[in-house]
Parts: sequence; C-alpha cells; structure tokens
Amino acid sequence: MGLPISAERLTCTYSGEGTAVHALREVSFELAAGSLLTVVGPSGSGKSTLLAVLAGLQRASSGTVRIGDREITGMTERELLRFRREHLAVVVQDARRNVLPFGTVLQNLRFAAEPAPRHRRREPLSLLTRLGLARLAHAPVDRLSGGERQRVAIAAALSVRPDVLLLDEPTSALDRRARDDVLDLLDEQVRGSGSTVVVITHDPAVERRLGNVLRLADGSVVTA
Ligand code: ADP
Ligand code: MG
Repeated sequence: MGLPISAERLTCTYSGEGTAVHALREVSFELAAGSLLTVVGPSGSGKSTLLAVLAGLQRASSGTVRIGDREITGMTERELLRFRREHLAVVVQDARRNVLPFGTVLQNLRFAAEPAPRHRRREPLSLLTRLGLARLAHAPVDRLSGGERQRVAIAAALSVRPDVLLLDEPTSALDRRARDDVLDLLDEQVRGSGSTVVVITHDPAVERRLGNVLRLADGSVVTA
C-alpha cells in the first residue's frame, strides 16, 4: 500500500570550499498515497538532490519530509535504514550504483528482494520478462549494457512491491520500446499495487505520458 509524501520548505545547501550551492530552495509539495509525481527541470536544477532527500540518502539543511505518519527528516541513520528497508525502493541516477558489481541478474534481484517480507516479494522472472530481459536472467551483471543495467535496477526496485518508489531518470539509457515497457510497469505499480511513485525525467515523452508535473529551476519550484 502506498504512503502519502509531504515536503515542506525543503532547503538543501552544499557548502564546499568557498561558494555554497543552493541545490534546493524551500521546495514544498504534497503527494497523495497511490499517486505519481513527475519531477522535471534543467540539468543542475536540484532534481537528484530532491530525490536523495526524499529517500533519506541526503540530509536537508532545513525543512521537513513526511512519508506516511513518519517525519524522515528527523530520523537517525539507523531509523532511516529500517524505514527504507520497510517502505522504500530507490533507483538512483548512476546505474552502476543500483546493482551489485558481481553475480547474475537473477541473483541481483533475489538479493534486492531479500529484506522484504516474503508476501511482498515479486517473482523475479516475470519482472525480467516484462522488461525484455528474460534471456539475461543468468548473465553476469558486469557484462550488461547501460540500458540493460538500468532495467535490472528497475526490476530490483519493483521486486519488493515498495510502498514508495523513487526513480531518478530511469529511462535515460533506454530506447523507445524499453522505455514504454518501463512506463507500463510504473503505471501498473501505481494503479495495481497502489504504490506512491516519484519519477525524475528530462524526457518530454515521459513527462507527457505520466503527467502531474513538479518543475524545478535553480532549486525552486516553478509555478506555471
Ligand atoms: P539535477 O539532478 O537537476 O541535475 P542535482 O540535484 O544533481 O541537479 O544538483 C543540483 C546542484 O547541486 C548542482 O549545481 C550541482 O552541481 C550541485 N551538487 C549536487 N551534488 C553536490 C554535492 N555532493 N556537492 C556539491 N554540490 C552538489
Ligand atoms: Mg540529476
């Protein structure tokens, strides 16, 4: 079952040597349980930072994120780890960081599903088939192309039937056919399983198909 997400005045500032980068500036939005949000905006506008903050992988400088009745911005690392395992699935932008660098495709999916209770795990082979990867089930992941790896990451995320699914540019390395397979699966995840989904994209076709758009520019929400 999906969980609602609410972000309130999220600000994230990276401070290195010298100048500070304001990656997010008071970003707020509400997303109902079992619905989908599409985050768009130019490169450097803060999309990946927003996703990382929602996933609890990056600390906000100020502001709050609530998922269900929990405020994740106030959690300890340990609480976050547990919350992520129970409720979230995340596909980050760098496809290499989503899968183990060893083992087969099937082993990767089984490993990803392992923390989830048995009744929530999804049959890995059927997912691979839906994504056109069935013939690669026993292939070593380090031999996969970028697009294949990206689809394995998506299959791994879906294999736990997450309450909340967060995806950073999940179709960037895919051709049209593979992209449509992924979008069909995401649709199903929302309509069928009632997951709450946040998708980052820079593909106008994905934006049109998914709708419910949050547009970022220079760390701020652009109101149309
Ligand atoms: P997008 O995903 O929209 O391209 P990002 O969230 O990756 O945007 O980046 C937003 C801004 O924050 C950019 O100016 C980027 O250079 C900067 N940034 C991202 N990650 C870091 C980091 N770890 N340290 C410093 N600056 C960062
Ligand atoms: Mg990004």
